[in-house]
Amino acid sequence: MTILVWHRRDLRLADNPALAAAVAQDASIVPVFILDPTILQRPDTAAIRVQFLLDSLQVLAQKYQAIGGKLILRLGDPLQVLQELVQECQARAVFFNGDIEPFARERDAKVLELLQPRGVTVESFQEIMLHEPGAVLSQQGKIYSVYGPYWRNWFTHPKLHPFAAPEHISTPELPSQPIPTLAELGLATDQPAVSAGEDVALALLDDFCDPYLIFSYNTQRNFPAVDGTSQLSPHLRMGTIGIRTVWERTVELEADAHSEESLANLRVWQQELAWREFYKYTLYHFPYIETEPYQRKFTNLIFDDNRERFEQWCRGETGYPLVDAAMQQLNQTGWMHNRCRMVVASFLTKDLLLDWRWGEQYFMQKLVDGDLAANNGGWQWSASIGTDAKPLRIFNPQTQLARFDPEGSYVRRWLPQLASAEPQELITAKNLHRYGYARPIVDHKYQQEVFKQRYNSARV
Ligand code: FAD
Repeated sequence: MTILVWHRRDLRLADNPALAAAVAQDASIVPVFILDPTILQRPDTAAIRVQFLLDSLQVLAQKYQAIGGKLILRLGDPLQVLQELVQECQARAVFFNGDIEPFARERDAKVLELLQPRGVTVESFQEIMLHEPGAVLSQQGKIYSVYGPYWRNWFTHPKLHPFAAPEHISTPELPSQPIPTLAELGLATDQPAVSAGEDVALALLDDFCDPYLIFSYNTQRNFPAVDGTSQLSPHLRMGTIGIRTVWERTVELEADAHSEESLANLRVWQQELAWREFYKYTLYHFPYIETEPYQRKFTNLIFDDNRERFEQWCRGETGYPLVDAAMQQLNQTGWMHNRCRMVVASFLTKDLLLDWRWGEQYFMQKLVDGDLAANNGGWQWSASIGTDAKPLRIFNPQTQLARFDPEGSYVRRWLPQLASAEPQELITAKNLHRYGYARPIVDHKYQQEVFKQRYNSARV
């Protein structure tokens, strides 16, 4: 019997439930990845993310080769390609790991509808989260709308161990297209490629679990000049590492936490993994949030229609050093520190009074880890229209700079024109035009009052 294993956001052999289930059937396995032009042409596609995908596919193909298999790559509409492949290799089943995004859920339902009546078993496995969205509910059986209680419940649920990687598989001889280059897909970027593949992801996890980093995560994670976070986000996004592998490592490390403080730091990192799940959970249960505010009363929130200010924000020319440095980091590398993501998102929505969806899309066009659920969740949280328990929070970009980059090291790294500015000059943002740096394009105090007025009237 032959089983097609359809890879999508799970570009690895280890900790892969769909692959493990196919191997357990003692079947001939056809691993396939389908490059869907519809996804590649979407306005929120980032060339750097596609590059990361292509590089991850190269590594996956090598991994398959090493165990006797062959990754089949096809370009086209997944429904059509799967139908053709099923016929070509007389597959009896198609296995894949499920997704929570609305587009993917709809596509997967169509695959089931198409293939099941033809006698092909179509089976979806729970892989992308530690607990599937329906598993974590309140005592009254309700969906959580706030992270805190979700986390407390989520944490108590037993977690699965990672699935073992297969040691050998056999794949029937089938034609495969070569993995294209970015240029062959009509895409280009100046952002440098981020190292991809299962081994790279595991090495990052190893580095981060060196006790110094994980056991000081909470004290370091808010300082953008410090490499205090795991950098695992592109890998978790593309599935070059499985979430069970990551979680299990944190549990093993609990035994090494010899102080309350170390354990508390480790726990905060576990909570970040739960934030990842919470945003997937929210998107799964409330798919309308892909385009609308979670809190529906903010559907009528008024935004400015000011493209010029938006462009200044995109280019990092707002005259607010922390905002501009962060946008440079994003534009140049495809990644931005979490503290800075919150600061620039707050700035776009509450200082520039622009639509959060503009910023959300720009992030998707630039981020190597761009992920619908996490990005949408982060933007809605920052715009105070999402699931945050606190009604309204506004970040002052200068206070954030004073707290989280007091020496100005991060700002100076990304804004070389400010290399000789003193920390105090950066924090007060006065006279920075002497260094050829932009004057502030808006007045924070004034703009936040306007935002509050709009916000409060939208709530009624
Ligand atoms: P670590 O601090 O090491 O955290 C470990 C992992 O936990 C991350 O890799 C990520 O998978 C998850 N995680 C951590 N924080 C969050 C969070 N707040 N929400 C959801 N998951 C989290 N993350 C993305 O993966 N993709 C996005 O597109 C994305 N967009 C964001 C947009 C905004 C406006 C904001 C405020 C946050 C966004 N985040 C996004 C969350 C967070 O900024 C990144 O996950 C984090 O900076 C990645 O760095 P790291 O892997 O070193 O994280």
